[in-house]
Amino acid sequence: MEVSKVEIRFGCGRQAIRLLSSFMMDIRATLRARLDAAVGSAQVLTAPGDIAPYLTDWRGRFHGNAQAVVRPGTTHEVADVVRACADARVPIVAQGGNTGQCGGATPQPGSEAVVISLARMNRIRAVDAANATMTVEAGATLVAVQDAAAAAGLLFPLSLAAEGSCTIGGNLSTNAGGTGVLRFGNARELTLGIEVVLADGRVWDGLRGLRKDNTGYDLKQLFIGAEGTLGIVTAAVLKLFPAPVTRATAFAALADVPAAIDLLRAMKQALGDRLVGFELISGPSLALTRRQFPSLPDPLPGHPWYALVQADDSAANSPLAAALEQALAAALERGTVDDATVAQSGEQADSLWALRENIAEAQRLDGPNIKHDISLPVSAIPRFLDEAETALTVALPGLRFVTFGHLGDGNLHYNLAAPAGVAPETFLAHTPVANRIVHDLVAAHGGSISAEHGIGQQKKDELTRYKSAVELDLMRAIKAALDPAALLNPGKVL
Ligand SMILES: Cc1cc2nc3c(=O)[nH]c(=O)nc-3n(C[C@H](O)[C@H](O)[C@H](O)COP(=O)(O)OP(=O)(O)OC[C@H]3O[C@@H](n4cnc5c(N)ncnc54)[C@H](O)[C@@H]3O)c2cc1C
Repeated sequence: MEVSKVEIRFGCGRQAIRLLSSFMMDIRATLRARLDAAVGSAQVLTAPGDIAPYLTDWRGRFHGNAQAVVRPGTTHEVADVVRACADARVPIVAQGGNTGQCGGATPQPGSEAVVISLARMNRIRAVDAANATMTVEAGATLVAVQDAAAAAGLLFPLSLAAEGSCTIGGNLSTNAGGTGVLRFGNARELTLGIEVVLADGRVWDGLRGLRKDNTGYDLKQLFIGAEGTLGIVTAAVLKLFPAPVTRATAFAALADVPAAIDLLRAMKQALGDRLVGFELISGPSLALTRRQFPSLPDPLPGHPWYALVQADDSAANSPLAAALEQALAAALERGTVDDATVAQSGEQADSLWALRENIAEAQRLDGPNIKHDISLPVSAIPRFLDEAETALTVALPGLRFVTFGHLGDGNLHYNLAAPAGVAPETFLAHTPVANRIVHDLVAAHGGSISAEHGIGQQKKDELTRYKSAVELDLMRAIKAALDPAALLNPGKVL
């Protein structure tokens, strides 16, 4: 706005350009002075080498620009930074561990944005064991939060492969899922309270540790999953659970996906709430992972599908392994399962989980691939897989399917790798064709095109294709109400 006013007032000649650029330099200098005053100049990074890691995502697929990266240490400092940016009409991009999958934390190319890194706001403010809650700052890594809960003899159950680097602020802002959703829910279900810096710099302190609170709209839910487009999350009150004392882990070989769904039902029946995770792994996904990580075990070679089953119990001396073995034996007898093994030690359980947790990294080492993070009603998954495989094989002959995911949540990582002999980069040119086939089928089966990774900049156009006009209107109205100047993470989600 300011720029166009200046252009009109001074015309378009060389003098106008000089005046415009000195005007822009003034704005930058004023903003820089306010940022320095807010957080101290040592926490305002502007040198290209210093800010480069914040300007690209972890997979190197998205690249952007920013005039500065600011690292506040308190909520008050975040508020000062936001106010300074709002006054200067400068976009703001919140960043946690930068492990997001959809480019949400990367500023746009050519942007003059200020990136706010929450990394220094990493304190555990309080653990309330009697209330089974903890209050943590947004920049605390997920693993630090898990460790603090464990130190109090409790469990924070959110768990995902990036937990050493991702932060609670990022987890809430993407409504992260992971491997315990079947039992404990997404980040949304694990959050009781939240503290947010709003687009105008005001702080909303909603840090309530209540399990019942029907006092109007549940505002925290607006900010969870908003990917930094509605406010900057600075702290949260999280739910804690009794720590598991007994654990049992099994690996089962299956003929097809309907058999995996039968096994899931049987495990729910046999284990109830003690069933924590149920992961589906295709034979090709396992083979790829073992090719990249040959030291990993190959417990049941040569089957088309596998399920990794995790059961936990907080009661000491629980006959959990026996219950799991019994359920597996019954499934073997029924013919649902072709073969199965139960881990005999914590190390064996860890190595079974390593097979699952290294698939994404194995794919990265294998080369670029076309990824889909989708969810479907569990009952619709077999038909979806059949129809998608038929359509994709016709459109892109020879492609390799790398299918795995959180079957218990109906969430598949439905990834497509280049046919043998085709350069992965060449194969990536087919992404739009593959996305259309996969996402149209997902929509036809009542599913979601983003189960747990969010929208970011990657799926923005897909969102407008698959959300109804009414839903998009509602989302835009919320955005306009909370961020009228559209400065919070522009170009993301909407
Ligand atoms: C190996 C690997 C495995 C993964 N597995 C899973 C998985 O199983 N399940 C899953 O859900 N995700 C998974 N992810 C994705 C990713 O780890 C999660 O999305 C995570 O929650 C992002 O946290 P982060 O701190 O890295 O956020 P970032 O990547 O820094 O940011 C993500 C988004 O949140 C916004 N944001 C960050 N912090 C704040 C804040 N304080 N306030 C407001 N907005 C903010 C950013 O602007 C951006 O839009 C995985 C990623 C990797 C690399």
